[in-house]
Parts: sequence; structure tokens; C-alpha cells
Amino acid sequence: MMTVKQLRNLPKMTKLMEAEALEGWRELFSKELIKDQCNFVLENTRQALLNHEINETSEEEIISQINQRLKEKAQSSLKYVVNATGTVLHTNLGRSLLSESIMNQLQQAGMHYTNLEYNLQSGQRGSRYDHVEELLCELTGSEAALIVNNNAAAVMLLLSALLPDKEILVSRGELVEIGGSFRIPDVIESVGASLKEVGATNKTHLSDFEKAIGEATGAILRVHTSNYKVVGFTDKPSDLELVETAHRYNLPVFNDLGSGLLLDLQRIGLPYEPTVSECIQAGYDVVTFSGDKLLGGPQAGILVGKAAYINKIKKHPLLRALRVDKFTIAALEGVLMEYRKPKKAFETIPVLRLLNQTKSELNKKATELEKEINHLNKSFEVKLSDDFSQVGGGAFPDAKLPTVLVELRHPNYSESELEKLLRLSKHHIIVRVSDQMVQLDVRTLLKGDVQKIIEVLDEIG
Ligand SMILES: *Cc1c(COP(=O)(O)O)cnc(C)c1O
Repeated sequence: MMTVKQLRNLPKMTKLMEAEALEGWRELFSKELIKDQCNFVLENTRQALLNHEINETSEEEIISQINQRLKEKAQSSLKYVVNATGTVLHTNLGRSLLSESIMNQLQQAGMHYTNLEYNLQSGQRGSRYDHVEELLCELTGSEAALIVNNNAAAVMLLLSALLPDKEILVSRGELVEIGGSFRIPDVIESVGASLKEVGATNKTHLSDFEKAIGEATGAILRVHTSNYKVVGFTDKPSDLELVETAHRYNLPVFNDLGSGLLLDLQRIGLPYEPTVSECIQAGYDVVTFSGDKLLGGPQAGILVGKAAYINKIKKHPLLRALRVDKFTIAALEGVLMEYRKPKKAFETIPVLRLLNQTKSELNKKATELEKEINHLNKSFEVKLSDDFSQVGGGAFPDAKLPTVLVELRHPNYSESELEKLLRLSKHHIIVRVSDQMVQLDVRTLLKGDVQKIIEVLDEIG
């Protein structure tokens, strides 16, 4: 009975549309948009009453919900968050960061006309790909280069343009799934090629490749096992051996490098990984890698290699569908130019700077945060502890970067409640959670983040 009465008493649409409390929105939004939100809240409330999820409601409650929805409509969905996870290339948090100077270039590129596809010398139509090709060739030692939307697109384009209907040999240890349903076997199938698995999961020998080569074979593909490691009783041919074998059988050989290093990162304590130049030197015909992993640039997929292959790829119609915009080109050119000054790159490229922080820098950040938290004089229990950060972005899965954690506990909240409060706070602080504590890894805290964290903790109390 109560429900029926409540249903009957729901405010009428005409009344809601004229409500004083929604006045401000009528200036801002269209009548249709406001009406849709009123409808949504009314319908939701009706259903909730019918399903006995709620027993009563009121006009104020309904107007307040409509207000809340309209408020959300006025805000962008893409929010800045504080990355306190320590994972530098966090795919869910947008991967690599761009520097202020590169962002200034992007702003200018957006606000001005550019010679994106216009050759200033000849006064004729030019190619958007020319702006970065020379730089990429210079930095990687390759003959030709091309960029597309992301590395997944680069691999698909490579296989589509060069190997439709062909058989592609891949080691069983390299049949990678990258995430977001990008699986090498599926990618090969989707472009109309066929996969021939070679060797075993832990061991693939050169002789396995040689035995697998036949009439239908179109190429050998090496795939970087970016996000996992096969350890123990393992073996695979070196890059040089693999290239030599492929070429002996007149087959092209490609390498999907995934992250794609332009500089050796052993100097900042990471394990050895071949750089793009080393792969090109080893003789791979085409190498593909991401723009926004360890390169530290915008989202992009980069193909470098022999001119004969890259030029063929440039003619494939799929390229038009995967083409990059002027912002990608501007940002990528900016980052690549930083690599021309390799001694400064660890300062000027944010991803490299975040990876390259010393223990004492990290200690300093952590101590400052701890001090500020104690200063608040709230109920938080705080302590520092040593731990490790991850590189992320499917790169260096087993690398351990020493870091410092600021660990927090609050008597009124469990660690998962506190995690949620921080995440949903106005600054959206994304943290790690251990058994008992919320953990803030200071490695990925940027300028101004300590202040944001303190503001939020102050409000939590
Ligand atoms: C990350 C990765 C990809 C996908 O690259 P995106 O730029 O994310 O599309 C493909 N292959 C390998 C080996 C990778 O590590």
C-alpha cells in the first residue's frame, strides 16, 4: 500500500522541469538533456520502489539526484589522478607522461595550421610520415620508418601488408597475449595468414625453425615476451642466429619488440634488453614497438626496417585507417628530438626520469609526505618502508626498482575502505593495498601531488 502511495506521489515531469533548484542548469544545458536526466531519475526511483529496494522518496531527494547527474554532465569523464602505485607505465592510468615543453608544442600544433601534409620546399602536397621518418632512421640505424596508432596496429599492418595467405613461424615460447585481447595467434589469423608454432614453450632451437620451413612459409616472427618470463630450463636462438637462418632460406624475419628501447637502461639498474638499434643491426627486416612504453612518447606504433618492406607497407590501404594525427606526430617528434641529446634524456623525458630516481631522492619525497601527514595531527598511523616499484606497460616484468612506501592506517577504516575513500576523493589518489595498510609508492608522485594527498587526508580526518 505504502508503495502505491509513494508511486502516485512521484513529482510530475512538468513540475520538475520548472523546479527552482534546477534553474541554473537551464542556462547551461538543453531542455532535452535536462528532461532526460529527470526521466532517468524518476524511472530509477519508480523501479526501486516497485522492487522494494527503497520504501519512500521525496521531491527533494529526486531533485537532488537530478542535480547530481547534471553536475556530472558538466564535468569531463577523463580525470587527473594521483598515481601512488609506483608503476611508471601504468596502462590503466594512461602509460607515459609527456613533458611540459612537448605539451607546449602540442598546444601550438593544435592552435595553428601546420605543414602536416604540405611540402614547404615544393609547395605541393607532402606526407605526414616524413616529419619523423628521418629522426627514427637516425636513432635506430634503419633505412625507413613508419608510424601508426599503436603497436598492435603496427603488427597487424605489417602482417597484412607483407604476408596475407602465408604461413608465419613463431616460437611456442612467444605466443604472447598482451592484454585487451591482443593475442599473437589471433592477430595472425585475423589478417588471413596462418600460424605455424615452432619448438616447445621453454625451448626452441634453430633446428626447429629449419624443420618447420616449407613451401608455404612467408616469414619468421619473433615476439618479445614483454609481460612474462620463461625461467629455468630454457633456450632460444639469438637474434643473429635467427636472422641468419631466415635469410639463408630467403625469408624475411620480423621482431615485435613491444616496448622498444632507444637507450640501454642498464645504466639505471634495469636488466639487459636489446635496443631497437641492436635489433636492426642484427638484421631484422622490420622491427615494431610502442611509442608510449619505455620510449616515453605518445601512444603510437612504430615500424622501422628495410626500405623495401616499409615502402610496401606504406602502400597498404589499411594504413589510412591506422593513421596518426598531428598531435601524435608533434609529440613523437618532440620526444625523439630529446633522444638526440642522450645525456639529457634521463632528465627531459618524464618516463626515464621517474625510472631513474635515486634511493635518496625517493627517501626525501617519502620523508616529506610522512612529515606533512604527521603535521595534520589526525588519526592516521604512518610509517615508511622499503619496497620495489614496477616498470609496467608490459616491460621488464621481473625488474625490481627499489623504492620507498609511505604506509597508512586509520582506526575508523579498513585498508580497503581507505583505498576507496582516496580513490573517490576529489584528487583521485590511486594507491596499493597490503594486508593491513594502504601504501603510497612515492616513485610516481609528481610535483604538487604531496599537497593533493595532504588535502584529501585532512578531509578524511
Ligand atoms: C605492448 C605490446 C604490444 C601492443 O602495443 P600497444 O602499443 O599497446 O598497442 C604488442 N606486442 C608486444 C610484444 C607488446 O609488448
